[in-house]
Amino acid sequence: METISVYGSIAEELKNEVRAFRFENKLSDAGRIVACGDGVLTIAGLPNVKNGELLYLGGDKYALVMNLERDRVGAILLNDTYELGEGDIAYSTGKIVGVPVGDMLLGRVVNPLGAPLDGGKPIVSKKYRPVEAPAPAIFDRAGVNDPLLTGIKAIDSMIPIGKGQRELIIGDRQTGKTALAVDTIINQRGKNVVCVYVAIGQKIASVNSVIHTLKNHGALDYTVVVCSTASESAPLQYIAPYTGTAIAEEFMHAGRDVLIVYDDLSKHAVAYRAISLLLKRPSGREAYPGDIFYIHSRLLERSAKLSEAQGGGSLTALPIIETLAGDISASIPTNVISITDGQIYLESELFRSGVRPAVNVGLSVSRVGGAAQCKAMKKVSGKVRLDLAHYREMAQFTQFGAELDSSTKAILGKGARLTEILKQRQASPVSMSHTVIALTVMMNDLFSDIAVRDVNAAMDGFFDFLEANHPDLPARIEETQILTDEDEGLIREYLSAYKGNVARISDEIRALQEKSGGKA
Ligand code: ATP
Ligand code: MG
Repeated sequence: METISVYGSIAEELKNEVRAFRFENKLSDAGRIVACGDGVLTIAGLPNVKNGELLYLGGDKYALVMNLERDRVGAILLNDTYELGEGDIAYSTGKIVGVPVGDMLLGRVVNPLGAPLDGGKPIVSKKYRPVEAPAPAIFDRAGVNDPLLTGIKAIDSMIPIGKGQRELIIGDRQTGKTALAVDTIINQRGKNVVCVYVAIGQKIASVNSVIHTLKNHGALDYTVVVCSTASESAPLQYIAPYTGTAIAEEFMHAGRDVLIVYDDLSKHAVAYRAISLLLKRPSGREAYPGDIFYIHSRLLERSAKLSEAQGGGSLTALPIIETLAGDISASIPTNVISITDGQIYLESELFRSGVRPAVNVGLSVSRVGGAAQCKAMKKVSGKVRLDLAHYREMAQFTQFGAELDSSTKAILGKGARLTEILKQRQASPVSMSHTVIALTVMMNDLFSDIAVRDVNAAMDGFFDFLEANHPDLPARIEETQILTDEDEGLIREYLSAYKGNVARISDEIRALQEKSGGKA
């Protein structure tokens, strides 16, 4: 009897304790730092911690768990801090890194943890998203069938990109990679596409100039800039693209179209390599760790075109990779080429010779975007790639001063004019109808009487003429997305009217010059 009553009182006590228990947001576990240096911590005594978990180090200092070993964990510091030392305490939080997401980020520049860098007010959001998230499942995806226009003639016609696609921009340093991506962002103005620009390991001056360009072209209002410069720690550079993707995903899951630029993933790989070497992980090819493919594939797999049931949003990715002396067979370029749905290859040789954007059409490809190209563009661009290839082949051959027959001359003339028309200044995107009309003129040899160096000026003149006299033609192409045979006939008709005008004006100018020359 007695024993029972003892047990009874213990049970009562326990019950009271359970009743008095209140759930609190507690730091669950504590461990001690046993080694610390170069932004990497080794901590003993956190047996229940998980990979990718956030550790709290006191103050506003946090670390991210990267390595789980038998009796210690390796973590990377998310802040630049020199105040930590051996013996300090690290608490596990049970959470993974998250960032504030939502509309209030538009027009802002933030660091990879979501803190503002533009001197604006703090970012307060009810909603956070984990920076690492699984990619949408295959059943939640739809086919890529909507074009994402870059506003760059060479790309929209020959290497079309669809919403939800991942298209790599690859090239040596200073070949216009950033310019191409930024121009694409600028071209999304008024098209209801949200953009995210992620700068990884770049110079502060370069990032500032991108932000400046975006602002000047009214593109910052619909863009979020996530910035981790070269002076920041490797861990921050490492999580920057995942942060950008988390911010982008929020818009995608709300049913919107999103474009994300990762500038660039070569530097991201270098940051990850630094972390891995500090964590003493074994290294592989070019000293990159074995899972370098995985960190990029799990990032780019998060781009998708969602099905209607999932809201129909999309996330299009333009990762950038820098090559060394055009070597696309190095470790990181081959990895990312195999992950993406195509690449735009920029060449220094072309860039130097004045072909800008310096797209090497032969080595560039878009594996899915063709399905998303509109009918008008498909109709005019079908033969452009072939004609250009033909031209390049002939041009190489005729360098040796061979005697040329008339058909070779025609191919060379057409190719040279086509190359000229595909040149485009920075930050001057053109509309779909503009590209369609320009290519209609070129592919039908309607400019064969104009000197190669005057082709662009003549085309600009023709567009001014169209705008003044026949604005309905480009508007119709833009609206219907079709180039009818009648409209093609109209382009010929308007062009000959324009040429007539030009001839008349130049005659008049010549007459005036002769007159004034006579007086003199
Ligand atoms: P980095 O390797 O340093 O990141 P990058 O490949 O991103 O360089 P950009 O910075 O975009 O190249 O461009 C290099 C230079 O070329 C810049 O000065 C830019 O203004 C110029 N440039 C880029 N595109 C064009 C263009 N279409 N027309 C004229 N100039 C251009
Ligand atoms: Mg760049």
